[in-house]
Amino acid sequence: MLDCAIIGGGPAGLTAGLYTTRGGLDNVTMFEKGLPGGQITMSSEIENYPGATAHNLSGMDFMSPWPEQCQRFGLKHEMSEVTRVERREDGIFLIQKSDGTSNEAKSVIVCTGSAPKRAGFIGEDTFFGRGVSTCATCDGFFYKGKEVAVIGGGDTALEEALYLAKICSRVYLIHRRDSFRSAPNTIARVKKTANIELVLNAIPEEVFGDKMGVNGIQVRLQDGSLRQIDVPGVFVFVGNNVNNQVLIQEDGTFLCEMTPWGEVKVDLNMKTSVAGLYAAGDMRESAPKQVVCAAGDGAVAALQAIAYVDGHQ
Ligand code: FAD
Ligand code: NAP
Repeated sequence: MLDCAIIGGGPAGLTAGLYTTRGGLDNVTMFEKGLPGGQITMSSEIENYPGATAHNLSGMDFMSPWPEQCQRFGLKHEMSEVTRVERREDGIFLIQKSDGTSNEAKSVIVCTGSAPKRAGFIGEDTFFGRGVSTCATCDGFFYKGKEVAVIGGGDTALEEALYLAKICSRVYLIHRRDSFRSAPNTIARVKKTANIELVLNAIPEEVFGDKMGVNGIQVRLQDGSLRQIDVPGVFVFVGNNVNNQVLIQEDGTFLCEMTPWGEVKVDLNMKTSVAGLYAAGDMRESAPKQVVCAAGDGAVAALQAIAYVDGHQ
């Protein structure tokens, strides 16, 4: 029987692993289907984690010491894909895995992350990380004083366009319709922001560039003509997939309460609606989707899991 099962080995899961083991839980396993490290290992550069000051520090290099640090305190890593987390009537959790085996655990911290959706235009994948981004907080600063394009018409696109407008000289907000899904006050703020130019009824067709990165984007307008917008950065905000599949039960319901957008509802202690079950990182509601926040969540969830296993809550 595990004291704690951690599902996912990104910044949240690894930090939860460090804090649970170092905090006294003896039998903790982190189930990670690939190599530990999470999404940030796909990033060519991270410069907003406090203390990580090395120039051109890649996400992979940044994350590489994390697993070893956890293992020093006894965290076990099992390379397995978890298919479902269930809770028996006696309060013990069952961790079901894709190879058909399962583990029992007294507590569970789910940290399976999320993934931004892709819009599907030509060049989006080729230039991802080299001018195409899905994170303004991560990459906006690289375009300080420059022009950028934002794609999407929901709350995320408009809020991130407002964020980028404070850093960049001009933001082209490209949306495929002429009305936005976003909250009315956010739309009003966007319309009042002088350096945001709305490019409406415009379908992104292709991002183009060269070895150095993106040079611009071509959009198809309503009358069928093409417009070329020359920018070094294109930010795509067309929705987000939360990796919440492990919480879906046999009858199709979720193990714990979720938001309408598929994120796990948590309180300030990362507690879900189910005793002994915690969620941390990008998959929890209102997550800022930053490494430092995911790590913080993992630590909070771990401290709560220790107290739960010790019978203090
Ligand atoms: P993740 O990092 O997504 O980790 C989840 C882990 O769970 C993954 O390793 C996955 O394999 C595993 N997993 C999922 N499902 C299962 C399953 N069923 N069974 C077993 N394992 C499973 N943030 C910053 O702070 N600064 C940046 O500069 C920055 N740049 C970024 C650049 C890119 C290209 C990307 C994609 C993201 C960037 N981010 C950045 C965001 C940051 O990576 C995330 O906020 C952070 O990684 C979230 O951590 P997490 O642990 O919640 O989830
Ligand atoms: P979203 O609401 O699903 O909006 C996605 C946007 O991208 C839509 O405008 C959509 O266009 C566009 N789009 C989708 N696929 C595209 C494609 N292939 N090419 C071009 N455009 C494409 O996603 P979101 O903005 O990430 O928000 C998700 C949820 O979180 C929403 O319910 C939102 O309200 C919520 N949220 C809330 C807040 C807040 O309250 N502060 C902040 C962020 C997010 P169409 O409009 O034409 O479909």
